[in-house]
Amino acid sequence: MAATRWGGDHNGESQRRALLKALLIITALCGVLFFVINSRRGVMVLAYMELGAAVASLALYVVARRTRRLLLWTLLYLIPFLTIMMVALYIPGSSPTVFLWVYIVPVLCHLLLGQRLGLAVSVFYILVALFLFLHKNPDYLYRGQFAEIANITLSLAVTLAFAYIYELSSHRSRSDLMVMASTDPLTRLANLYRFREAFEHEKRRALRLDSPLSVLVLDLDHFKAVNDTHGHKVGDLVLIHVAQRLRERLRATDLPCRVGGEEFTVLLPDTDRKEAVVVAETLRELIECQPYRGGRLVIPLSCSIGVAEWGTDGDTIDELVEAADQRLYIAKQQGRNQVVASG
Ligand code: GH3
Ligand code: MG
Ligand code: MG
Repeated sequence: MAATRWGGDHNGESQRRALLKALLIITALCGVLFFVINSRRGVMVLAYMELGAAVASLALYVVARRTRRLLLWTLLYLIPFLTIMMVALYIPGSSPTVFLWVYIVPVLCHLLLGQRLGLAVSVFYILVALFLFLHKNPDYLYRGQFAEIANITLSLAVTLAFAYIYELSSHRSRSDLMVMASTDPLTRLANLYRFREAFEHEKRRALRLDSPLSVLVLDLDHFKAVNDTHGHKVGDLVLIHVAQRLRERLRATDLPCRVGGEEFTVLLPDTDRKEAVVVAETLRELIECQPYRGGRLVIPLSCSIGVAEWGTDGDTIDELVEAADQRLYIAKQQGRNQVVASG
């Protein structure tokens, strides 16, 4: 099961949104400041571009707070922002120190766009900036001031490399944290947090495609006796064994999950009640037919399963699990090792 299918904040979208909002405020303030400075210096083209950027930044701020297309709006901000920076660098009369702003390009691009797009956009603008700088100041080339050129190029390359490595490692840490936060440590199955998230995702998909969606709640029978007879450690191995059987038998699009103790749930997209009963029966038989084996130890297993279908048994995950739980209770009362899908 690909973790990415269920969404989550792997890409640090909330941090990126916060950063973009902060940047838009800073850009608006800087835009007004540079409008004043450049008007007083008489560089009116640049002054009006700065003022335009300030107004656009405030408008974008309103959009950036809520938009679901954060990347698109980030690019809509970043590309004009960086282009104005290039114009400011090249325009006659602008200060040579404008070039210092090029050093924030790799940092901004990586933090806002991630490692790949961030790298591509920063390399492009850094090359443009270097070209414009040398074109505007040809003395560096013609008088052979190669040490200065090397200083500028290498320090930019180092900033770029640091920004890339930082973004790469923080992306990996975020992914690791996401996996930890959504995985049951014993069985490596999804946990309840991820199950809920997956349900919301599948519910939206089911609404869009008018497709069915079902939930199973599975509980091992007399599991306490396994612990009491063979010890907690063997009990843990039995839980891992059951999790492996679930993983093996289910489709890649189904999501098995350990909600706690010896209780599991399974999310079945594109599956109505009738089909869910077939899946549940298959799982029940599988667990019955494949006892836990450890050395000479053989522990027979069985489970009881409650089935609930989205729409007819409830709309929210809590309603569906509640309905499936009630049927699981009936299955236990009726003698265990069975599937109940109604009542
Ligand atoms: P029933 O058929 O009615 O479900 O009976 P049961 O014995 O399976 O259910 P009960 O709720 O009485 O006992 C569940 C047991 O699961 C009790 C607890 O010791 C055990 N258990 C809960 N979590 C873990 C775990 O992480 N590891 C192990 N080894 N045992 C656990
Ligand atoms: Mg049990
Ligand atoms: Mg239980």
